[in-house]
Amino acid sequence: MTFDEVRNADQSHIMATYNRFPVAIASGHGAVAVDVNGREYVDFTSGIGVNSLGYADEGWVKAVSRQLTAVSHISNLYYSPVQASLARRQSEKTGFSKVLFCNSGAEANECAIKLARKHSYDAVGEGKSKIITLKNSFHGRTMATLTATGQDAMHNYFFPFLEGFAYVKAGDLEALSREADETACAVMLELVQGEGGVIPLSRDFVEQAARLCRERNLLLIVDEVQTGVGRTGKLLACEHYGLKPDIVTLAKGLGGGLPIGACLCGETVKDAFTPGTHGTTFGGNLAVCAGAAHVLERVTTPDFLDEVTQKGRYLKERLAAMPMVESVSGLGMMLGVEVAGQNGPALAARCVEAGLLILTAKQKLRLLPPLTITYDEIDRGLAILGRVLREGKEGN
Ligand SMILES: *Cc1c(COP(=O)(O)O)cnc(C)c1O
Repeated sequence: MTFDEVRNADQSHIMATYNRFPVAIASGHGAVAVDVNGREYVDFTSGIGVNSLGYADEGWVKAVSRQLTAVSHISNLYYSPVQASLARRQSEKTGFSKVLFCNSGAEANECAIKLARKHSYDAVGEGKSKIITLKNSFHGRTMATLTATGQDAMHNYFFPFLEGFAYVKAGDLEALSREADETACAVMLELVQGEGGVIPLSRDFVEQAARLCRERNLLLIVDEVQTGVGRTGKLLACEHYGLKPDIVTLAKGLGGGLPIGACLCGETVKDAFTPGTHGTTFGGNLAVCAGAAHVLERVTTPDFLDEVTQKGRYLKERLAAMPMVESVSGLGMMLGVEVAGQNGPALAARCVEAGLLILTAKQKLRLLPPLTITYDEIDRGLAILGRVLREGKEGN
């Protein structure tokens, strides 16, 4: 199909929930995407932090294909070695006791919300069910996770939203303390607010929030859908904060390009769900688990995470030295770039035109490159971005 054919079919038959860039990707290798005309783009997006090992990673493709030829799916009514061993490896590597596999970040957070409420119900009955989240957060697009998302602009159209959520500003311990009353059962937060602008929480606030949760008997849920699985240079971003929450959710990068979500939990809540209280037809799909198992092993091989940290640092330094760049925020290879007087989405469109796929978060540019990106690919991408910024400057 030519680009115009693709766009016409898409616009006629797919609901328009995205303003797509005028590019149709047909293949990829490493951190380079190739469009239907054979033109290459350096990829600083890895989907949205999904293709953690880049495009068509040999080991990952092998792991998934091997599982496809054995058995791709069985129902969760049966045991399976690939699912069980992924769960065990995950537990060994993260220290969390149990996991529930699902299909996306929103589903993992939905699971976390249900798990917290079930635990609370078992302990004290009805009435202790409020979930406190942060303003400017993002937790997903289902009704519960959209309600949990602390952005007024997203609480539109779909009324009524759910009861039992409250929002406090990141850093505002007083407000958190006020909301953490006897009707609250959990606090849920992102350690680096991703969609909200790549803004890391302060260590101080996170420590105090964790202490408050312990004192008031609230569960702490950390949404690591974007920050997890090596993205920040640690397997979990929690490690940067010395944090051991009750529940952690993962998705995006875990599957290496296939849809998986995971809700991990510690000893306190690991037995709150009983047969029939939660479930999913596709969750823990075997081909997907085989891909995730491969990602987990690769990301935790010696030196891999140190390299992510080093490449992140390199990117940060180069970005900070570019014309018009006001600030670079983030951890590891999850970076936000504020460009003076520039509208992020417009800038991203010019980057795509110039051969660089890049994300935005609010008005910032956002980078989530494949964790395996090479320095060569990084330099290629930065050269394109530098050119776009210089042209922008001359155009001003
Ligand atoms: C992307 C994201 C989600 C939603 O994940 P989906 O897979 O799109 O449902 C939830 N929380 C955070 C922090 C995210 O970045």
